Amino acid sequence: MKEFEIVIPVKAVNYDELDETDRTLVDSARQATERSYAPYSNFCVGAAILLSNGEIVTGANQENVAYPSGTCAERTACYYAHATYPDAKFKTIAIAARDTSGNEIVNPVAPCGACRQALLEYETLAGENVKVILVGSKEIFILPSVAATLPLAFTDFD
Ligand SMILES: [Zn+2]
Repeated sequence: MKEFEIVIPVKAVNYDELDETDRTLVDSARQATERSYAPYSNFCVGAAILLSNGEIVTGANQENVAYPSGTCAERTACYYAHATYPDAKFKTIAIAARDTSGNEIVNPVAPCGACRQALLEYETLAGENVKVILVGSKEIFILPSVAATLPLAFTDFD
């Protein structure tokens, strides 16, 4: 038998410790929460992706009365980004959330499993790490890659 641990590097910072580029992306993710349609969960998520061409593409969760038909903010953003700029690489993604009263979620918001899998595809396409910024009202987590959010990911096994 073999046993091992998988360690995930996470930096916990506050907004003021971010560089200007990351701050802009966090601001974009926070603003994107305003375009969420979340009448069922009341959990308004915004995602912002910085692309290699300098563009920032945002998305917000879009719910539906037929629950599985809705889409998370992260996948809304990443599919739109790749559909609009298919040659651009993903550089960084920031994710933020608030409730319907406008209160930002305290703990840094992490993408669901399906979004981690979807984002990993674009990180693989980019051929380089995509930084992940998880925004909370008091603390922000920075992970060096999407792969770090999804240990033992399903991949194209040869
Ligand atoms: Zn998701």
